[in-house]
Amino acid sequence: MPLDADLLAIAAPESRRPPAGSFPFLLLVLAIVSSAAAGESGSVVPAGRSGPPPTGRSAIPHDGPVVRIGLLVGVPDCTIRCEGGVRIWRRGSGLRGSRFGPGVTLRMRAARVEDRQSRPRGQALPLPGWGVRLSLAPRGALGTFPEELLIEPLSSAHPLWVDGCSYRGEILVRAGAPERLNVINAVRLEDYLRGVVPLEIGSEGVAPAAMRAQAIAARSYALFYLGRRAAAGCDLFAGPDDQVYGGIPAETDAATRAVVATRGIVAVWEGLPIRANYCSTCGGATESSDRVWPGESYPYLRAVRDRDGDDCFCEASRYFRWKERWSCAQLQQIIREHLPREVPAARGGDLGALTGLKAKRRSPSGRIELLEIQMEGGRFRVRADRIRWVLRRPDGGLLRSTWIGKLQVDRDTGCHVTLEGAGYGHGVGMCQMGARELARRGLSAPQILRHYYRGITFARWW
Ligand SMILES: [Zn+2]
Repeated sequence: MPLDADLLAIAAPESRRPPAGSFPFLLLVLAIVSSAAAGESGSVVPAGRSGPPPTGRSAIPHDGPVVRIGLLVGVPDCTIRCEGGVRIWRRGSGLRGSRFGPGVTLRMRAARVEDRQSRPRGQALPLPGWGVRLSLAPRGALGTFPEELLIEPLSSAHPLWVDGCSYRGEILVRAGAPERLNVINAVRLEDYLRGVVPLEIGSEGVAPAAMRAQAIAARSYALFYLGRRAAAGCDLFAGPDDQVYGGIPAETDAATRAVVATRGIVAVWEGLPIRANYCSTCGGATESSDRVWPGESYPYLRAVRDRDGDDCFCEASRYFRWKERWSCAQLQQIIREHLPREVPAARGGDLGALTGLKAKRRSPSGRIELLEIQMEGGRFRVRADRIRWVLRRPDGGLLRSTWIGKLQVDRDTGCHVTLEGAGYGHGVGMCQMGARELARRGLSAPQILRHYYRGITFARWW
C-alpha cells in the first residue's frame, strides 16, 4: 500500500538533504578532475609509482562517484518493480519524495504534459511539453510529471527491477523525445563495474589478473567519458556503444573480487583518467587511435605488437582470423542501405551495381584507412573504422575489423565477394583476448595495462 502517495503532488520541502541519486555530481566530477590535475591522486596500486598522500579530495565520496547509465533510451514505456518499498522523487523540484509500500509495481510511459499543470520554477525540464505518466499497479494513474522522476529503493536488500532485470542504485526516468522515455540507472561506479567486467571479458576460466585489468580499464573509461551521453541525460549507455552492463544478473563472484581488489584504481596519463578504449581481439597488433578515428590522437593509444615473435597473444580468439562471404547482390544491397548514412555524396542518387572495392590507404599494421567503393553510380570513399559500418556482415552486424586482406569481387562463381580479415573490434587499446593470455602467462594487471596503454601510471582515487 502507498504510504503517502498524495505527497507526489504537494509542494513541501522535506529537508535540504537531496535524495541519494541527486548529490551534486558535477561538483564531484570537478573535484576529481581538479585533484587529478593538481597531481594529488597519489596512493598507488600494485607495481605503480608512489606519489604524495592524497589531499583535497574530500568531495569524492568514500565509496566513489555515481554514474548515470542509460538502460533504455527512446522507449515508449517501462515497468519498474521492487519487492521492498520505494521512494519517488520529482527530481530537482524541491518536493519531498513519496513512499510506496512493498511489492510495488510502477508503470511509466511518455505523455504530453497539460499546459495548465504546474511546473517547478527555474528548473530546466528534460523535454518541455513532455513528461512521464506514472501509474501504480493496480491503483491507477498518479499523474504526468514534467521533471525527471527518481525511484529510490528503501532497502538495498530489495533492488529495483526494470523490465525484468535488477539493478543496484536508483532509477531515473525522464522524457527523452516526443513519446519516448529514457530510463537511467544512477549507480555507484564500483557497483556499475560489477555488472560490466563479467560481460566484457568473461569470468569462467579467465585468470584474475585479466579481470583486474578489465576492471581498471572499465573504471578509467567511465571516468574519461563522464557526460558523453548528456543529450540523453546520462553518462554512458549500457550497450556496446560504451561498455556492456547487465546489472545484478550479470555479476559473478570472480569478477566482483576483481572489482573489489582494484577499488578506486584508475589508469592515468598526466594525472587524468586515460581514454581506455579496448576491443575483443586485435589480431596480432593494436592500432593507433588517430588511424581508426581520424583526429583523435592520444600518446598512450599507440599501435603495439601483441605478440612475441610469431606467437600472437590473442591467437585463441575465434576471430583471430576470419572470412566473410556475400553474394554481389547481397553486398550491393547492404552498401546501398548503409553507404549513404556514412558518405553524404552517396545520398539521393541511384548507386547502381557494385563494381569494385579498393583499399586506397593502409596503416602500418595493415588496417584499411581509406576504402574506395566503386559503384556504377560513382566512386565513394569511406574512412577507417566507419568501413565496418558500411561493409556489414550478411547478418547485419558490423564487419569484424578493418584489417582485411585482398579485396576481390569474384565473378566466376556467380559473383561473390569474399573478405579475409584479422581481429574483432576497432583494434585500439587493450586487446581483451590478449589480456587473458598475458594473465595466463603470469603478468599482473598493471603489467597487462602498461603493455597496451604505453606510458600510463596508476592512482587510487577512493
Ligand atoms: Zn591481440
